[in-house]
Amino acid sequence: MQKFSGSCPVCGCLEFSERAVLWPELISAWQLSEVEVSYINRQQGFHCKQCFNNLRAMGLAAAIVRNYQFNETLVRFCELHHELKVLEINAAGNLTSFLSKLPLHRLVEYPQFDMLNLNVESNSFDLVVHSDTLEHVPYPERALSECHRVLRSRGRCIFTVPIVIERMTRSRVGLAPSYHGQAGVPAKDQLVHTEFGADTWQTVLNAGFSSCEIFSFEYPAALVMIAIK
Ligand SMILES: [Zn+2]
Repeated sequence: MQKFSGSCPVCGCLEFSERAVLWPELISAWQLSEVEVSYINRQQGFHCKQCFNNLRAMGLAAAIVRNYQFNETLVRFCELHHELKVLEINAAGNLTSFLSKLPLHRLVEYPQFDMLNLNVESNSFDLVVHSDTLEHVPYPERALSECHRVLRSRGRCIFTVPIVIERMTRSRVGLAPSYHGQAGVPAKDQLVHTEFGADTWQTVLNAGFSSCEIFSFEYPAALVMIAIK
């Protein structure tokens, strides 16, 4: 197990706060062990006191800047990369207000935009970003193949999904409905279709990407998938 230390990769702040976000019904539907509860709580509940991005969003930001060989914060990155054409699919953590500083940034959201059939031109973006969205779509491989389609050659799709590292991916079809979000608030778009596991990379490659890197911001609490077209 690693523990992240240092400044927030989004805004550079050095102060963090932590809260538990999982609740008993979700823990039991997901059949999580104590260790898994602890790292998923950290992934979703450890956050920067200034920009309020949690560990998974911080990991996503760190993966993005690192991928472009940049050593400063996402804030700085967005000030200096005006040429980059970025598609954000559903607001990724609290990163939207930072990413939208890029003049060629575009945010598309459910339900106006369906990830399984994106009304977005093919071969048109350098970078596609999404965070904890894929587990809520019925066909994650199809959603990733849509990300692949809208990317230019050598473009990147950088994203997070909650991964339980000790098991394989499973579909929740036929199981009792499980929702993310908040305890006792079953929102339709928060219904979980897929629980991702150690074989998540296969979904990426099956969708047509030529490579899949797993970046560890903090292991195993904050893993980020970097898929290259
Ligand atoms: Zn921050």
